Amino acid sequence: MDKCSFCERKRSEVDFLISGATGFICDECTSRAYEIVEEENKDKKKNNKFDINSVQLKKPVEIKKFLDQYVIGQEEAKKVLSVAVYNHYKRLSVPEAGQDEVEIDKSNIVMVGETGTGKTLLAKTIAKMLQVPFTIVDATVLTEAGYVGEDIESLLTRLLQVADFNVELAEQGIVFIDEIDKIARKSDNPSITRDVSGEGVQQGLLKLLEGSIVSVPPKGGRKHPEQNLIPVNTKNILFIAGGAFDGIEKKIARRLNTQVVGFDKTEREKFDKENFLQYVAPQDMKAFGLIPEIIGRLPVLTHLNPLDRKVLRLILTEPKNSIVKQYIKLFEIDDIKLEIEEDVFEYIVDKAIEYKIGARGLRSICETVMTDAMFELPSKEIKEFTVSLKYAKSKLEKADIQKLKVA
Ligand code: ADP
Repeated sequence: MDKCSFCERKRSEVDFLISGATGFICDECTSRAYEIVEEENKDKKKNNKFDINSVQLKKPVEIKKFLDQYVIGQEEAKKVLSVAVYNHYKRLSVPEAGQDEVEIDKSNIVMVGETGTGKTLLAKTIAKMLQVPFTIVDATVLTEAGYVGEDIESLLTRLLQVADFNVELAEQGIVFIDEIDKIARKSDNPSITRDVSGEGVQQGLLKLLEGSIVSVPPKGGRKHPEQNLIPVNTKNILFIAGGAFDGIEKKIARRLNTQVVGFDKTEREKFDKENFLQYVAPQDMKAFGLIPEIIGRLPVLTHLNPLDRKVLRLILTEPKNSIVKQYIKLFEIDDIKLEIEEDVFEYIVDKAIEYKIGARGLRSICETVMTDAMFELPSKEIKEFTVSLKYAKSKLEKADIQKLKVA
C-alpha cells in the first residue's frame, strides 16, 4: 500500500502523495520540509560574513570608464566619484588600524549641480556596478525628532532593507542623500534669522555622517512604534550628498569678485561667468546655510556642469541605454526597424532648450513624438518606420507644452 515515507499516512489519509525513486512523500510533509529549508537558509544568510576582500576591486580609471558608458560629460564629478568609491572599498579591505597606525578617514562626498544634470544618474550608475548595498534617500522628508516627518535614523532603514537586514553588510554600504540643500539654514547668520528646523536636522545628520551607533527602525517611519530598533554603526558607511543649491552661483560670484578686488579688471574677467558652479568652495556652502560641521564631514566637494546643446544631443543617443536605443529596441520586439533622421534629434534638443526642460524633458518630447507610432504600428504589416523632421514636428505641434514641462 502507498504511504508517505515520512509520516506513514496512507494515500487515503492525505490530499496527495508525490512519488520518489524508492518511496512517497505527502503534501503536508512537503510543506513542512519546505519550511525547514527556508529557516535554514535564513540562518545561513545571517551568519554569512560579508567579506570585502572577495570583492573584485575596480581601479578608479575602470570605475570612470563604466560611468562614461551611462553619463555624458561631467568629467570632474565622475573622476572624483571614482576615486571616492575606490578609496571606500580600500579602507574597508584593510584591517582596523592599531593605535600608532595610519587610519584612513572616510571621504563623504557632496555634489552641487542644477537639477537634471545627472547627480542621481551618477549615483545610480555607481550602484549598478557596486557590490555593497546602496540606497537613495531624500533629505526633504527629514525633520527633527518630535516634528511631523521622518526621523534622521530612518535614512538607514532602506539601506538595512536592501542589505536584507544583514547589519554587517549594511554597515559597509553607500547612501545617496538627495536634496541636501533643502535642509540648509535660511540665513548665513544664525543670530538673525534662525531656521531652527533646518539646523536641527543638520545636527542630527551630523551624527550619521561622522560615524556613530544609531538605532534604526527596521520598518522606517513612525507608523510602527512597536518595532525593535536595530543598532547600526555608520563609521564605514559612505555618504554621497547631492543638491541643486539654487542661487549659490551668486554667492560664489560675490566671493570671487571680492577676492580679486585690488587686482585689475582683467583678473576678474578670467572667470567663466556662464558656469560659476565650477568654482564652488566650502565657504559657499556655508554661505548657503550648511553648518560648518556638516561641510567638514563632506570633505569631497564636486560640481556638475549645466547641460549645453552638445551634451543634450549626445544624451539622446550615446549612453548605453539612451532614450533612442530604447525606442529602437521596443520596435525591434515587434520586428520593426526604426530609423530617426538626424535633424529630428536637433529639433528635439531645440525644443528641450526652448521649453527649458533640460535632459529630463528629452524623454517627454520623445514620448510625444513616438506615441502614435507606438500605438498604431504593431497592428500594421510594416517592417520599417522612419521618423522624419516633418513627422516629429506634426506630432509635437499638436502637443500640450505644459504637459511636457511637468515631466
Ligand atoms: P539630478 O539628480 O541632477 O536632478 P538626474 O540624474 O535625475 O538629475 O537626471 C535626469 C535625467 O536626465 C536622467 O535620468 C538622464 O536620463 C538624463 N541625464 C541628465 N544628465 C545626464 C548626463 N550627464 N548624461 C546622460 N544622461 C543625463
